Amino acid sequence: MKDVWVIGAGQLGRMMKYAGTPLGINVHPVNVDDPDLAAPALGDDAIVTAERELWPQTPSGMALQAHPNFRNSTVFGRTADRKTQKELIDSLGVATAKWLNVAAATDAAQCFAALGDTVLLKRRSGGYDGRGQLWLKQSENDEIPGDWKNSAIAEEKCPFDEEMSLVGARTDSGELVFYPLTLNLHVDGILMASISPLPRLEHLQAQAEEMLGAILNELQYVGVMAMECFRIGDKLIVNELAPRVHNSGHWTQAGASISQFEMHLRAITRLPLPRPIVRNTSVMINLIGIDYDESWLSYADTQLHWYNKAVRPGRKVGHININDGSIEYLCRALDHLQSHLSDNYLEVVDWVRAQLQ
Ligand code: ATP
Ligand code: MG
Ligand code: MG
Repeated sequence: MKDVWVIGAGQLGRMMKYAGTPLGINVHPVNVDDPDLAAPALGDDAIVTAERELWPQTPSGMALQAHPNFRNSTVFGRTADRKTQKELIDSLGVATAKWLNVAAATDAAQCFAALGDTVLLKRRSGGYDGRGQLWLKQSENDEIPGDWKNSAIAEEKCPFDEEMSLVGARTDSGELVFYPLTLNLHVDGILMASISPLPRLEHLQAQAEEMLGAILNELQYVGVMAMECFRIGDKLIVNELAPRVHNSGHWTQAGASISQFEMHLRAITRLPLPRPIVRNTSVMINLIGIDYDESWLSYADTQLHWYNKAVRPGRKVGHININDGSIEYLCRALDHLQSHLSDNYLEVVDWVRAQLQ
């Protein structure tokens, strides 16, 4: 039995645990946020991974990160800070949104001069779901608030056509395996829906694989990484990297012979990792701040993943995967689901329907 310890005990660790069970991999998510949790006793053969980019220096967090089999141990520091992540991407010549570091002396005028009249401040670390971001507009004479200095980067506003992501893995021996590109809808900075594969994105696949491949190889990375991209015409530019399994890869639970969670486990435990077979078309709808509804379970081609978290506005509490070979059936499942979702899902479901046509 292989033992994998996960830094973090959120939904990603939980889903990794589900994926490990049939393979005989014992996955142990650890709530490293708990200062009272004792450091777990790990065997020499244990493998350590993370479901998040940052964690506190609690006894359990310190013990896990210090283990010699903590995969990608040097990567997290580089990617968790947007400044060093951007420097990494730039150093490889991979396209990314133009940016500059917000130092103590940086002012808004410098940002507008370098990046255009609308600029997005992003906290260097700790942001997710669009939290830790602030738009600055020259037309409104916006200034950089004092507490953003020395702790943020500024980015140009990308006039993107749409957002997509590539999820893939690198093995210890340097092989690269990717899923097809996933089209993503974000509303107010939070992922609402994903679709994959889409025939109209196929011509971008090689470009995306080259970009993420360069990053994975440079980092000598082992396991799953996600690259969020903006598409501008036929060109992809990187928005950000996530050195872990990723929300936009959740559709693989229903739509691929090897899910992203299993892919990550196979890579970090050095098990064989063939290219997954992708079946049909998958749609993933995130459940955000919405109460559990048993009627979601009434449709045969939908798959519910409920995270068992307290429901709060804006919080990801689950997702639903739909997988079907027929666009007609997919749309029918969407129609059914929509009647059991709140009104704000109207635009989400409409968007999905439009992409499928
Ligand atoms: P995640 O939950 O994916 O980790 P995050 O909080 O780290 O999100 P980003 O992915 O950087 O934040 O940005 C969130 C969303 O904000 C993006 O998916 C995109 O819709 C929008 N966005 C980010 N950067 C830009 C930009 N430079 N120009 C325009 N829109 C942007
Ligand atoms: Mg992020
Ligand atoms: Mg993002």
